[in-house]
Amino acid sequence: MRETDILILWDSSAQRGLVAPLARTIATIFMLPTDIGESPLLLTGYNSSRHQYDAGSILTCLDTFRRRHRISALTLLILSHDIFIPDYSHVFGLARPTSGSAVVSSSRLSNGWYGLPDDAGELLDRLIKEGAHEVGHLLSLGHCRTATCIMYSPESIDDLQRKTQAFCGYCQSILDSRRSGICAQTYDLPGKGQISGPSP
Ligand SMILES: [Zn+2]
Ligand SMILES: [Zn+2]
Repeated sequence: MRETDILILWDSSAQRGLVAPLARTIATIFMLPTDIGESPLLLTGYNSSRHQYDAGSILTCLDTFRRRHRISALTLLILSHDIFIPDYSHVFGLARPTSGSAVVSSSRLSNGWYGLPDDAGELLDRLIKEGAHEVGHLLSLGHCRTATCIMYSPESIDDLQRKTQAFCGYCQSILDSRRSGICAQTYDLPGKGQISGPSP
């Protein structure tokens, strides 16, 4: 893998056809070089009683992989397995700004989860919004109260639908001030990670 600022890894469980348009849009939103690759990770953290993966365990697995291969790019893993963190029924995604790793699950972003006909365009739109949200956390952005902003924390698929593929003026100004120093930046946000999904 070559040096890049954002790396999107695609788990074999996820829809491969969406990765290129997702990466193009993420690159445009952040104005940062974005590369893609198939994830070689053997996922850990499956909880057989919940039938879900522990998102924190997945991020630890991703952190180990990035250290081993000296990957400095902010890394977003896309998978289709349902994910959770303790005390939450599920999350759409989870970011760990302290290490630069994030994960997004497409499972509850698809119409099929809600018994509706699948729509690749709608799934891509939601993946872009959710993926950009987690990358925003990796760049130290917090949650935003503007319902249309990428950094708004969606509690439902309807919230996600209302969001746009853009930051509000305030979040954009913070991003602009930080993007130039991305390589040298240190992160001091809480180590537990920034979640995206329903509030408890
Ligand atoms: Zn905002
Ligand atoms: Zn969030």
